[in-house]
Amino acid sequence: MSDATPRTGVPLAPRTTLRLGGKARYFWSVSSADEAVEALRWARANRQRVQVLGGGSNTIFPDEGFPGLVVHVAVPGLRFRDAGGKVVVDAGAGESWDDLVRGSVDRGLTGIECLSGIPGTVGAAPIQNVGAYGQELSETLVHVECLDRETLERERIPAAECGFGYRWSRFKGEDRGRFLILGIRLRLESGSRPDLRYDQLEGEVERRGGIGDLSPAEAVRRVREAVLDLRESKSMVVREEDPDSRSAGSFFLNPVLSEEEYRELERRWDSAGGREAIPSYPADGGRKVPAAWLVEKAGFEKGHRHGGVGLSTKHALALVNRDGSTRALLELADDIREAVAGRFGVRLEREPVLAEPDGADDGRPRHGVSDSEPSEETQT
Ligand SMILES: Cc1cc2nc3c(=O)[nH]c(=O)nc-3n(C[C@H](O)[C@H](O)[C@H](O)COP(=O)(O)OP(=O)(O)OC[C@H]3O[C@@H](n4cnc5c(N)ncnc54)[C@H](O)[C@@H]3O)c2cc1C
Repeated sequence: MSDATPRTGVPLAPRTTLRLGGKARYFWSVSSADEAVEALRWARANRQRVQVLGGGSNTIFPDEGFPGLVVHVAVPGLRFRDAGGKVVVDAGAGESWDDLVRGSVDRGLTGIECLSGIPGTVGAAPIQNVGAYGQELSETLVHVECLDRETLERERIPAAECGFGYRWSRFKGEDRGRFLILGIRLRLESGSRPDLRYDQLEGEVERRGGIGDLSPAEAVRRVREAVLDLRESKSMVVREEDPDSRSAGSFFLNPVLSEEEYRELERRWDSAGGREAIPSYPADGGRKVPAAWLVEKAGFEKGHRHGGVGLSTKHALALVNRDGSTRALLELADDIREAVAGRFGVRLEREPVLAEPDGADDGRPRHGVSDSEPSEETQT
């Protein structure tokens, strides 16, 4: 439901999957472009900083809350249209991402089935180019409908101009905070077989009898079920009753190392007596190493606890809130980063967004390892 005016003192913790953070001084839920313009005008007139919020599954609010206006984007709409053998989907930013995936899979459409179960809204999906099991939003996105927060003009940005990369886009980079996303358009395949590119998913699909004998529509449904089960087994589907899903998903990005950085990692691993091979795969001109492996080998086991927060018992990359605070969560994140940097010379970058009042979040540590003092040990 949208608000006609901003509300005051709205608790933010229930609006995030981490269940952390204080109150928003002002909070405004908007259901249309006009309402978004109204909220942004109000913030300008009242000299309030703005934090845009969707489902809160990739946002960390400080314990002190947010001392400005939180604009919650609730723009509705989900429309599927045949377009020359393909299907075009227009979705409002406030729709649930997984409702969009389910609706597509139910129609037998392929292209986003591996992105099943990712929490959050449609509008946030382009921000970090959501991805899972070898598939990314950028593969099917046609364009993003935006509102320029400065000019308050509407703009349509084609996918090719979104600057997409691994968990990256211009909306996280040079245009961070510039646009409010109102909706997206996707182009999905109809009657095509799903493409399985990830061993673990292929294994899970095989375990269910494979997809070779199925029609394309049945096959895409089987893939969705397999993805959801895999995600459930790692608490990567948000469930109230599952304390390990009280997270922001993966807390760190998988680092992509240059050949030199990778050799340094190998050297350190060997000299520490490491026996198993370092898991890695080629990506983006370097080698991607699972951050979860680095976290565990740096001494942070699944289930590790630190003052009311900790690591999920199922996934070393999910920092979870048991009954803690944002402060404790960021401390733990910094401890992990320092340990990984000290042990392996690899710097981990945070994936979720820290909604800082000064808007200065760059995904880097606030405590501990200092960006201004790079050392051989902390370079990546
Ligand atoms: C259990 C769990 C599993 C997850 N698994 C995955 C995964 O497999 N792959 C993956 O990529 N991500 C994953 N995530 C992260 C998260 O779900 C995605 O990043 C999702 O797209 C965030 O959506 P949201 O609406 O909750 O965003 P929010 O947390 O509300 O916002 C995230 C960022 O997007 C901005 N934003 C939100 N909506 C808009 C808008 N309409 N216009 C402009 N800016 C906006 C916010 O300002 C903020 O900077 C997971 C998270 C959890 C909790």
